[in-house]
Amino acid sequence: MSEVQQFDVIVIGGGPAGYHATIRAAQLGLKTACVDAALGKDGKPALGGTCLRVGCIPSKALLDSSRQFWNLGHIFGEHGITTKDAKMDIPTMIARKDKIVKQFTGGIAALFKANKVSPFYGFGTLHRGNVVTVKQHDGTEVSLKAANVILAAGSDSIELPFAKFDGEYIIDNVGALDIETVPERLGVIGAGVIGLELGSVWNRLGSKVTILEAMPSFLAAADGEVSKLAAREFKKQGLDIQLGAKVSNVEIVGKGKKKEVKLTYTDAKGEQTLVVDKLLVAVGRRAATKGLLADDTGVKVNERGQIEVDDHCHTGVNGVWAVGDCVRGPMLAHKGFEEGIEVAELIAGLPGHVNYDTIPWIIYTEPEIAWVGKTEEQLKADGVAYKTGTFPFAAIGRAVAMAEPAGFVKVIADAETDRVLGMHLVGALVSELVHEGVLTMEFSGSADDLARICHAHPTMSEAVHDAAMAVAKRAIHKVN
Ligand code: NAD
Repeated sequence: MSEVQQFDVIVIGGGPAGYHATIRAAQLGLKTACVDAALGKDGKPALGGTCLRVGCIPSKALLDSSRQFWNLGHIFGEHGITTKDAKMDIPTMIARKDKIVKQFTGGIAALFKANKVSPFYGFGTLHRGNVVTVKQHDGTEVSLKAANVILAAGSDSIELPFAKFDGEYIIDNVGALDIETVPERLGVIGAGVIGLELGSVWNRLGSKVTILEAMPSFLAAADGEVSKLAAREFKKQGLDIQLGAKVSNVEIVGKGKKKEVKLTYTDAKGEQTLVVDKLLVAVGRRAATKGLLADDTGVKVNERGQIEVDDHCHTGVNGVWAVGDCVRGPMLAHKGFEEGIEVAELIAGLPGHVNYDTIPWIIYTEPEIAWVGKTEEQLKADGVAYKTGTFPFAAIGRAVAMAEPAGFVKVIADAETDRVLGMHLVGALVSELVHEGVLTMEFSGSADDLARICHAHPTMSEAVHDAAMAVAKRAIHKVN
């Protein structure tokens, strides 16, 4: 092995958390290396992690393609646009998605170059004394050392013991991004974020999608009224979501080209079976720490496989930090972004900080679902007195003009101080609107502050404005 190469910072993992940490550290004048093992579909190194390669970006590409197709058949008619025999060319859709992925993964490599970051393409392992060994794709091994090492190894799909991924009949989110022909029947285990987003994609393209969810309630983390409205809209679109459905067995049945996937599950009515052509298993993700830590590092991993860290992402071992999906907290790319920047700034002696109370959640279905802060259910459980203001998109001129009247905005404020405690949205473009709530909460603003901010007319954001006014029962466009 060649001699040890010295850096100020080594980041293991070039996903959202890792590449943010890397670029910020380099901006701050630190000599930075980033180690990443991932390869793209073309077999070449691809930075950007799950998010860019097989997560956020490719799924949004497919969500958008499938939405255009769905709208053509379901919404365009309302505008007076009709077309005969509209067809979806799936390979073209997939190729477009792959092109977008390549553009963005290549973009990170270009940013590394511009920031004078040293990338190492291979699998990194941390050893005692902040030494990182990298097994590179060409078979060679290099050794690196730095005062600070940031672990940003990300997460992997959880595999059910009775439904092992085979890439053809039983797939995870990665497989669901590359299906070349629309399956007649698609089964999904898990009505979480991935199940709903990717289930929506294939439903819009013509699959009969059945989602089996073990929990008795739908989207329990979201505001109750939001999940109720979303469930109603998904049902209208043809998504069959079965709650309280615990899958106990999955087998591939049939021979040759006629193979099917048979699921056995139990719900309130007893044992049931479901036969589908493909099965997407989306039951959550687990921190990817296998092989990351040599035995003698002193870094602790908890029973869920997550690296243990304090409130500032420090592992307790001198100069070793961990960020993103491999530590506690929501598995969201933007949570990782913030932690990556925080740690780079702390290493450089700046006051890095993440406000976990204002991290937005977004589910990119139709309608979109988004929220920040507490739900009414959480506040009730915590015994906090609150007031709410809601406003429907059906009363917003822009939403109706866009033929997107479904959904509403709800603002929750402290009963006494009026400080905004949460904002919950369901409807078109709410992935953008939720940031009004984030901003207000970040500045400790009140519902009245939000109500007194001028919002342009006609825009979707007027629903936020009127919902904030509705907190004090003075919304203009509805009876309070
Ligand atoms: P998830 O945790 O969102 O949902 C998993 C669902 O599967 C849960 O509702 C759970 O009750 C259910 N489940 C678990 N075991 C089951 C079983 N045996 N039978 C039936 N149901 C079962 O997980 P996910 O959808 O796999 O997503 C993984 C992670 O990726 C999440 O943390 C998510 O936040 C993140 N992600 C986020 C976005 C986004 O922000 N838009 C998009 C994709 C993924």
